[in-house]
Amino acid sequence: MPPVYDPLGFRINSVEDMSSTSALPEPNHDHRQCVDDAIAMATKICRQNKTRFTKLRRRVLELIWVSHEPVGAYKILDMMNREGETNVAPMTVYRALDFLMENHLVHRITSRNAYIGCNHPEVAHNGQFLICQVCGRVAEIEEEAISRSLAEGAARAGFDNVNSVVEIEGRCQDCRQVAYG
Ligand SMILES: [Zn+2]
Ligand SMILES: [Zn+2]
Ligand SMILES: [Zn+2]
Repeated sequence: MPPVYDPLGFRINSVEDMSSTSALPEPNHDHRQCVDDAIAMATKICRQNKTRFTKLRRRVLELIWVSHEPVGAYKILDMMNREGETNVAPMTVYRALDFLMENHLVHRITSRNAYIGCNHPEVAHNGQFLICQVCGRVAEIEEEAISRSLAEGAARAGFDNVNSVVEIEGRCQDCRQVAYG
């Protein structure tokens, strides 16, 4: 395998080295596994929280997990109406989305007005979201230092109860590889 050169000057020796640093799964990974894991986790969490993981809520979560790109409420509605004869009302989808957010199973990406599945919903967290400007996929990272310094900065400004969701745009590893070969 030829060495891959990072445009910023870091030399990365192989694709294997790179994939270990990517927060996004490889493009040809077994995505079915991601969906299965997300549904299994959601089932467990709903049982713990003593809430009902209804067929509808489950379907909405599956549709959000259709890929690693955030999905808008109307796209979900559209997909649901296309697969069934029943007409799903927008309010029904919004209610299911609220439920999924309350249980930390999905996050709302404000800049895209869309939702992304969370792969560690066991604990409530803010998280930082890296949004690829090329392919649109979103990687969730949790840098303690960022959350901490935001909370400290907010405290100095007299704020508490800070909800520090951070959205960062950039270009993911796979899209960089395409651009620089
Ligand atoms: Zn996947
Ligand atoms: Zn998350
Ligand atoms: Zn990308």
